Formats: sequence, structure tokens, C-alpha cells
Amino acid sequence: MTTHREPLPSVLDTIGETPLVRVHVSPDEVPVYAKLESFNPGASVKDRIGRYMLERMLEEGTLDGGGTIVEPTAGNTGIGLALAAGQLGVEAVFVVPERFSVEKQRLMRALGAEVVNTPTADGIAGAIDRAEELAEERGGVVPQQFSNPLNAEAHYETTAPEIDEALDGEVGAVVAGCGTAGTLMGMARYFREREPSTFVSAVEPEGSVYRRTVGEDPPHGEYKTEGIGTSDAATNELFDVDLVSEIATVTDERAQEELKRLAREEGHLVASSSGAASVAALNVARRIRDGELDAPYDSVVTVFPDSSERYLSKGIYGSFEEWQG
Ligand code: PMP
Repeated sequence: MTTHREPLPSVLDTIGETPLVRVHVSPDEVPVYAKLESFNPGASVKDRIGRYMLERMLEEGTLDGGGTIVEPTAGNTGIGLALAAGQLGVEAVFVVPERFSVEKQRLMRALGAEVVNTPTADGIAGAIDRAEELAEERGGVVPQQFSNPLNAEAHYETTAPEIDEALDGEVGAVVAGCGTAGTLMGMARYFREREPSTFVSAVEPEGSVYRRTVGEDPPHGEYKTEGIGTSDAATNELFDVDLVSEIATVTDERAQEELKRLAREEGHLVASSSGAASVAALNVARRIRDGELDAPYDSVVTVFPDSSERYLSKGIYGSFEEWQG
């Protein structure tokens, strides 16, 4: 296990073992704990999959040392993969829809990667198509976080056991925002294997359409919350509805209010997907406390995926209208 009390051979050895901190406003009877993923070297949860996917792919021979990866990404995955690629001797190219934050794109380039933009209107599906084309042209491999089981496995093997150990196995509910859904699926599978009645809440912003997987028909719309949600759940191949107890929808307004509250009252410099996760996790904790929802233990775990510093240029701490999302 990584220890931060002795010298480490590589920055990759600092990935994971992030702090788990109690959310102060959670009910005393049912505390909410948040895993602070901005403590990773690339400052997001995606460093975990960057390292895990590339190491496994090199081991399995699906990627050669000195080879090229081409990945469609909203940004954090690009940073996590760029960081790992640089240290593992792999070339990295990222396809990023224009609307995503410039900070992330600059960091990917700083880590030695190439960034290719696709039109915002084409969504993540457009970026996926372009990545496939580029991989073909350049003889590269697409790790494809949206369908690669190694993405969820990274969380099954690292994020979940860390939480399990910190809470002595007493995890009543797991709540997380879903982009690829890798974070939630890895954790859900791990905790459901140990305790099948673990409550699992998938969080999406209003405007996202994950709820179509449970027979509802929410309208698709634009949203400002970055890193979670989908415009077509067929893209999010890792999302397994059988591992989910509910899909919770959080508005951009509530997510921003909460991320501001988390900074002001609790000292967390976290971004909009953390705000949304916090709103949903607090809601689950209150329902467990009030007997409205059954869970095997009186505790709720969530993930704060990244830091607000990555979104300062988009006015994340401004008024709702100023926040560009
Ligand atoms: N929050 C942010 C800021 C992200 O970049 C991501 C990844 N897209 C997530 C949450 C969701 O993580 P996952 O892809 O594992 O569902």
C-alpha cells in the first residue's frame, strides 16, 4: 500500500488512498462521508483509471510500450491518462468537445498530450466517433472509458476497498454522479457483493437522460454541471441498471449552491459534480434517518471527483447566470 511517509519512486504511486471526510451538515444518526479525489496528482478521480487502464492494457498486450492511445474525454480522463501515459512511455491524443474547460485542455498539453477539439453540438458521441477515426489513421488504441470494463474495475479494486477499510465495512449507501458511471459501478458491485442490500444512488444533472434506462422519459436539455450525465444512455455502456436502487436528478442551481456552501462552510474547493453528489447523498442520509429508505448500515458514502480550481475561468463561484458551465 502507498504510504506518504517515505519517498516514492514515481508520481503514479501517489494515486489513490485519498482522504474520506465527513460532510458536516449530514445527520448525526446517518453521517455522509466524501472521498476527496482532488488529492490525486492530476487532481481528479480519473487518475485512478488513467493508471489502472494503461497498466492493465500494457500487461495484457492490448497496448504496446511506445504505442499511442486516442481517447474521447471531457477532460479529467485526459489528464489522468496523460499523466500515466507520460510515465509509462505511451503517446496520448485526446478528443475533447469544445465546451469543456480550457484549464483541463492546457493541463493535458502540459503533460505531453495532443488535444483535438470536436464541436460542442456533436456531444460526447461526436468525440467518440472522431477518436475512433483518429485511432485508425494513426494506428492507435482507444481505451474507451465509456465501454472499457477496466474503468469500473479500477474503482472496484481501489476506491471501494479504501472506503471499506476506512469504515470497517459499514457502508449503508453509495451515492455518486455518473458520467461513464465507472466510479459508481465499481463501488456498487464491490459493496453489493459484500452486502446485497446496499443502497445505490446514481446522480445525474437535470437535462441528462439516464432515467430513460428505468422507463421514465425526462426531457433532454443542456446543463452546466460538468463531468456527469448523458444525452444518450446507450453511450454509457458500463451503466448497469440492476446495480442501481435509484437515479437522482439534481438541478444546476442546487449543485452550484451546494458547491459554494461546501467551500464557505466546510472548506472544500470542489466543483459542480461534487455539489450534485453532495445534494443527493445528504438526501439519501436524511431518508435513511427518517425511515423512508432501508439501508444495511447508517452511513452514506459519496465521491467529490475534482476541484473548483479547474473551473474558475467559467465563473463557477459567480452568480448562477455568470457560471458558464
Ligand atoms: N465528475 C467529474 C468532474 C468528472 O470529470 C467525471 C468523469 N466524467 C465524473 C464526475 C464522473 O465519473 P464517472 O465517469 O466515473 O462516472
